[in-house]
Amino acid sequence: MRDDTTFQRPASAERRRGVSRQSLATGLYTVLRNGLRRDELSVHYQPRIDTVSGRIKGCEALVRWHHPHLGMIEPERFIPVAEETGMITELGEWVLFNALATHRQWKETGLKPGGLAVNVSPRQLLEPAFADMVERLLEATCVEPGDLELEVTESTRLDNIDQVVNTMLRLRDIGVKFALDDFGAGYASLDYVRKLPIGAVKIDQSFIRNIPDNHKDALLVKGMVNMAKDLGLKVVAEGIEEPAQLDALRPLKCNEFQGFLFSRPLSGDQAMSLLAQAPAYAV
Ligand code: C2E
Ligand code: MG
Ligand code: MG
Repeated sequence: MRDDTTFQRPASAERRRGVSRQSLATGLYTVLRNGLRRDELSVHYQPRIDTVSGRIKGCEALVRWHHPHLGMIEPERFIPVAEETGMITELGEWVLFNALATHRQWKETGLKPGGLAVNVSPRQLLEPAFADMVERLLEATCVEPGDLELEVTESTRLDNIDQVVNTMLRLRDIGVKFALDDFGAGYASLDYVRKLPIGAVKIDQSFIRNIPDNHKDALLVKGMVNMAKDLGLKVVAEGIEEPAQLDALRPLKCNEFQGFLFSRPLSGDQAMSLLAQAPAYAV
C-alpha cells in the first residue's frame, strides 16, 4: 500500500515489516470504531519498586495492540501514528479508563496496588477537554486522584507550553501527580523541569543501560539524580535489566526502580497475582 503523505516521518520500519503507517492508521481507526475489535487492545502493567522497602509502590500502565494478522504491534510504532492522526485522544481515554477501572478492581479485592502511572502524550494535554475527561473518569471509577500519576513524555516538542501548564495545574489542584518521562533524552529536559508542575522525573533507560561500564553515562545519571532531588522531585530509574546496573544505581538513592530485572510488563491478571504475593525485591 502507498504511504499517505499526511504522515511526515519515513515509514522505513513499517515497510521492512510490510506495514505502512497508512495501514497502521486504518487498522487503529477500525479497532477504535468497531466495538468487536476493541479486544485487540489491552493494558499491561509494570511494577515500580520502592528503593527502600523493595516493595511494589505502584504500576505503570502500558498499552498493547494484538493484531489478528500482524501479531503484537509495539506502542512505539502505533502511538506516533495515533498522535499524528489525532486518534490518541480516543486511545488515551480508553487506556486511562481501563487502567483506572483495573486499579479500582484490585483495591476492591483487598489488594494494595499503590499508585497508578499512565502515559499521556503532549498532544492530549493540549486538548481543552483533557482535564475534564480525567476528572470524569476518576469519579466514574472512584479512584483517588492522589493515586494517579500522569507520565508526560518529552519526546515531542510542546509548542504551547502555557496551555499545557494550565491543564496540569488544574489536575494537580485536585491531587493528580505528574512525572516527566524519558528524562534526559528529550528536546528540552531542563526547560520542561523548569516550567512544568511535575513531582517526579523518570531517567531515560538509554542512560541506565551503560552505567556499569560508561563513566560518562554514570556521571550524567548522578548529575540528573542530584539535580532532581535538589529541586524536590522524586526520581525513578527505569529500564533496569542487569544486577550491575542496580549496583551502580544503589548509591544514588533514587526513589523508585523499574525494569525487567524486577518484572516485565504483565497482563492485568498476572499483575493482580503478583500484587497478591506482595513480593519484597532485593534492592
Ligand atoms: P515508557 O513510558 O518510557 O515506558 C517504558 C518502556 O520501556 C515500555 O515499553 C516498557 O515495556 C519498556 N521497559 C521497561 N523495563 C524495561 C527494561 O528493563 N528493558 C527494556 N529494554 N525495556 C524496558 P513499551 O510498553 O513498548 O512502551 C514504549 C513507549 O510507548 C512508552 O515508553 C510510552 O512512551 C509509550 N506508551 C506506552 N503505552 C502508552 C499509552 O497508553 N499512552 C501513550 N501516550 N504512550 C504510551
Ligand atoms: Mg512511561
Ligand atoms: Mg520512559
